[in-house]
Amino acid sequence: MSEQPVLGQQDGINIFGNFIGGAWGGASSGKLGENRNPAQPDEVIGLFPASDASDVEAAVTAAAAAFPGWADTSAIARANILYKASEILASRIPEIGRDLAREEGKTLKEAIGETTRAVAILRYFAGDLQQPAGETYSSVSPTTLLFTLREPLGVCAIITPWNFPIAIPAWKAIPAIAYGNTVVMKPATYTPLSTVHLTQALAEAGLPAGVLNLVMGSGGAVGDPLVADERVVAVSFTGSDEVGNALKDVASKRGAKVQLELGGKNPAIVLADADLDHAVTQVLNGAMMSSGQKCTATSRAIVDRRVATELSERLAAKIGALTVGDPLDDTTQIGPLISEDAASRVADEISQAKGTGVALATGGGRPDRPGHFVTPTLFTGVESASRLGQVELFGPVLGVIAVDSVEEAIEVANAVKFGLSASLFTRDVGRALEFIRRIQAGIVHINSETAGAEPHVPFGGYKGSSSYSREQGKAAREFYTQLKTVYFDPPPTQA
Ligand code: NAP
Repeated sequence: MSEQPVLGQQDGINIFGNFIGGAWGGASSGKLGENRNPAQPDEVIGLFPASDASDVEAAVTAAAAAFPGWADTSAIARANILYKASEILASRIPEIGRDLAREEGKTLKEAIGETTRAVAILRYFAGDLQQPAGETYSSVSPTTLLFTLREPLGVCAIITPWNFPIAIPAWKAIPAIAYGNTVVMKPATYTPLSTVHLTQALAEAGLPAGVLNLVMGSGGAVGDPLVADERVVAVSFTGSDEVGNALKDVASKRGAKVQLELGGKNPAIVLADADLDHAVTQVLNGAMMSSGQKCTATSRAIVDRRVATELSERLAAKIGALTVGDPLDDTTQIGPLISEDAASRVADEISQAKGTGVALATGGGRPDRPGHFVTPTLFTGVESASRLGQVELFGPVLGVIAVDSVEEAIEVANAVKFGLSASLFTRDVGRALEFIRRIQAGIVHINSETAGAEPHVPFGGYKGSSSYSREQGKAAREFYTQLKTVYFDPPPTQA
C-alpha cells in the first residue's frame, strides 16, 4: 500500500495502483494490464491493476465504511476539499493533458481543454455546496414548519468510457462525493491514467479514506460484480447502449437507481439561408474533432438541397485539408482512433458504404502510417435509412443527406434511435423556434456545432441516448441525492 499512485516499475514502465480505502495498491491477484499510445501502439504508457471481484469487494467495503462519516461531514467542509483538489488539478493541467492525449489520442489542445473542464467541474460543485439545499413549503397547519432536505444515497458505482477520460469521471464522481455519497469508480481499460490523476488530486486535497475508490480492470471482471453488489445503491454509466442497457437490467432489478448516458447519431441541419462559411466550420468541428469520437459528434449533415452541393464541396475541401498526425504535434488536427479494433471497424463501415451508391467526397480509408488512424471522410448522397444514416460510427466520418424542406429535415433528424444533440443553421428565428419545439434531442444548438456542454447545465439525451436522467449542474444534485420531507410541529402545550 502506498500514498503514491506509482507502485514501481517494470522494464522502465510505471506500475500504477488501484486506490482503495485511501491507499494505492495492486490488484489482489497481482495481475497487470497495460495501456498503449494509439498514435504509436508500440509505446506502453503504463501498467495498471487487472482487478477482479475481490478488489471490487474491498472497494465497496471501504466505500460503505466511509459513507456514514462522509455523509455527516458538513457541506462546507466537503466544498473546501473540492476547491483544494481543483487547485491541485489546475496546477498540473499541462502534464495531465499530455498524458490524456497520449492514452486517448485526441490532440494536446483538446486534451488540455478537457482537463481544464475537469477543474471547472470541481469548482462548480464546490460552489454548489454553498447554495440552498432544500425547500420550505406552506402547510395546512399554521404552526407546522414543512421543509425538504436533500440527503446522499450511499455507495455509488461509476463506470466510464475512454473518450472523455477525465471529464466524464469528474462530472460523475465529483457531484456524487460533493453531495455526501461514497464512490467506487471503474474507468475504461484504454484510459486509466487520466482517472489516476483525478483521484490523486482529490486524495492530496484531503478526501477521507474510502470516499472515492478507483478500481481498474475489464468491464466484465470489475464492472459486473460492482453493478451486482447489493451495497451499491446507485449506478451511473456512460458508454455503449448494449453494455449500458445490460447493466441497467441487473442494477434496476435489485432496486438501485440507474443513470445511463449512451450513444448519439447527431444531426446538423443547414438551411438555405444559413451563413455557409460559419456552417461549414461548425459542422466540420462537430464531426471531426476528437476524430469524431464524441457522443455529441455530428455524424449527419442534413442540408437543404439548394445549398447541398456548395456546402458539400466546401466541407470536402476543408476536411481533405485536415492534418492527421501525432496528437502531441502542434500542427495535428486529427489524431488516431482509440484502438485498432475501432479503426478497422470504422474503415470497414467506410468500405461497405462505398458499395451502396453514395458519393465519396473526400477521405475513405486509412493513412499509410502506424497507429490507429482513419482518414477524415465525407460522403454525399446519403439516404437516411442507410447504415451511414443510422449507425453511430464513432469515427471521423460525416454523411450529407439532402432534403427539400425544413419539415423533411426535422423528420430525418428525428428518424434515428438516438436523441442526444442536434444543431440548426439558419437566420430565420421562426424556423429556429419550430426546430427547438420539434427536435427530439436533449441538447439543441442554433448556429453552433452539436458538440460542447458547459459544466453547469444539464447534459443528456432523448430516446436511446439516455435513461431520462441528466448529468451536470442541478440535474446531478437530483441524481445523487434523495429528498426527505419534514413536518416539524411544536410539542403540544402542557395543560
Ligand atoms: P463501452 O464499451 O460500453 O464501455 C464503457 C464502460 O463500460 C467501460 O468502462 C467498459 O470497460 C465498461 N464495461 C464494458 N463491459 C462491461 C460489463 N459487462 N459490465 C460492466 N462494465 C462494462 O463504451 P465505450 O466504447 O467505452 O464508449 C463509447 C460509447 O460511449 C459510444 O457509444 C458513445 O456514444 C458513448 N458515450 C456517451 C456519452 C454520453 O454522455 N451520452 C459520452 C461519451 C461516450 P472496459 O473499458 O474495460 O471495456
